[in-house]
Amino acid sequence: MDSLDELLMKAEAAHGHLCAGQILGVRMALLGLARLGIQDPHGADRKRLVTYVEIDRCATDAIGLITGCRLGKRTLKFRDWGKMAATFVDLAAGRGLRIVALEDSRELAGRFYPEIESKSRQQMRAYRELADEQLFREQWVRVSVDPAELPGTKSERSVCPECGEGINFGRFAKVEGRTLCLSCARPELRYWEPDGPTDS
Ligand SMILES: [Zn+2]
Ligand SMILES: [Zn+2]
Repeated sequence: MDSLDELLMKAEAAHGHLCAGQILGVRMALLGLARLGIQDPHGADRKRLVTYVEIDRCATDAIGLITGCRLGKRTLKFRDWGKMAATFVDLAAGRGLRIVALEDSRELAGRFYPEIESKSRQQMRAYRELADEQLFREQWVRVSVDPAELPGTKSERSVCPECGEGINFGRFAKVEGRTLCLSCARPELRYWEPDGPTDS
């Protein structure tokens, strides 16, 4: 593993700027990997890890970068809970570690570095320098990752008879005997609505 500074440079390049969230995310991911004994997440250990993130903010990018877990590899799972927390699951060992950023770490930043004027600079410094115990709470957890959610799952593919769109990974629902995509099965849950006529 590179040093914290080198990792932060990579995080900055990938995320577009260096911010307190990047530093917190890098630290959180490093702690998770260390506790699980995963030394080479991008190489030898790359099939061992699945990471659940609970917020879609800056730290999430850094967690993905350090762990090598990505949405497109099905190894990064997003639970939209608005919490600065992540769970690192070691599939080989069958255990996981959930790490939460402590609420009072922001306040600590002000207390430790009163000479720094900007709040975000205070936080960046604190997230670099404070001990893991000052920043995070850790808990060993068990996560039963559904085999169907793992990378490499061979999935049944079907086509929705309503909209004609292909569906993977069993994301369909039976409605009155028809196998519909989730969007057609529950239109009220769509995140979109048509704006003008459908292109064809
Ligand atoms: Zn950011
Ligand atoms: Zn459909």
